[in-house]
Amino acid sequence: MSGEELLKIKELKVHYYTAKGIVKAVDNVSLELRKNQFLSIVGESGCGKSTLAHAIPRLVRPPGKIVSGNIFFENKDLLSLSDEDIRKIRGHRIGFVFQDPFTSLDPLERVGDQISEVLIEHLKIEKKDAKERAMELLNEVGLTEDRYNYYPHQLSGGQRQRVAIAIAIALRPSLLIADEPTTALDVMVQSMIMDLLQSLIKKGMSIFFITHDIALASERSDEIAIMYAGKIVEQGQTSRIIAEPMHPYTQGLMAATPDIWERKNVTSIPGNPPDLANPPKGCRFHERCRFAMEICKEKEPPLISLKGRKVACWLYSDENGRDN
Ligand code: SF4
Repeated sequence: MSGEELLKIKELKVHYYTAKGIVKAVDNVSLELRKNQFLSIVGESGCGKSTLAHAIPRLVRPPGKIVSGNIFFENKDLLSLSDEDIRKIRGHRIGFVFQDPFTSLDPLERVGDQISEVLIEHLKIEKKDAKERAMELLNEVGLTEDRYNYYPHQLSGGQRQRVAIAIAIALRPSLLIADEPTTALDVMVQSMIMDLLQSLIKKGMSIFFITHDIALASERSDEIAIMYAGKIVEQGQTSRIIAEPMHPYTQGLMAATPDIWERKNVTSIPGNPPDLANPPKGCRFHERCRFAMEICKEKEPPLISLKGRKVACWLYSDENGRDN
């Protein structure tokens, strides 16, 4: 792992063992995240992006299971750590923000006390000092100190998400994983939360951001990884991918995104993502792809490096996986 890399996911597989069969939610995913980088994982619901996010700090719960692969973070293989050691890494080195802040906030406790508790438990500091630090954290996430005494239900959705971010960054992690943190918020509040996440990069954090919204990802990320049916299908620098999306699924996501300036026609991707308990043979996108060829139905395209990004599509590689 080079000095600049913070996180390296290698050939990761996460399966869910359900009555319907084995759901391969994350299927052989490899990704890297550098220090101070904002990486967005983009895809439709059910593509495995949220499972991927939960797998990093080992938050996948049964019937889900990390089946194989490696997750190297700060030169440690997270999958080989003891339960006690991974608990220390969660919060301390890796913060997690959930889509719904109610899942991480106690409705019966004042939000300031919830931040203080994290500091007291992990840093073993005095209550008075923890309260002071909690006030600073509230300021840092754009809330006034008087919010310390509020209960979660007394705050707006955006304010609750700010509190959840304050808790997630309280111990100064180097990696913040944010799983669709703005989905339930209106556009203005969404933009403010995104500003907040971006400001954390300057404070030494890296962001692993999960979203279904390619427009949102393109505004903020250094890199984008497009995920479809458990696999990465295109990945690279945001500017390159947005200027010239190569994978037909990436093209479809962009065509389905409204643009108020260009007033372009919005076209949705036909069909639905496949059932991951029984994914189609070959390229998993072939049933929805207007460029599908015979080989697409038979053989899975390899992820190859081309034009400054990685892409998995038979339009760009021959049967042996060499670049065209
Ligand atoms: Fe479409 Fe074939 Fe490329 Fe899959 S491999 S995206 S089906 S052209």
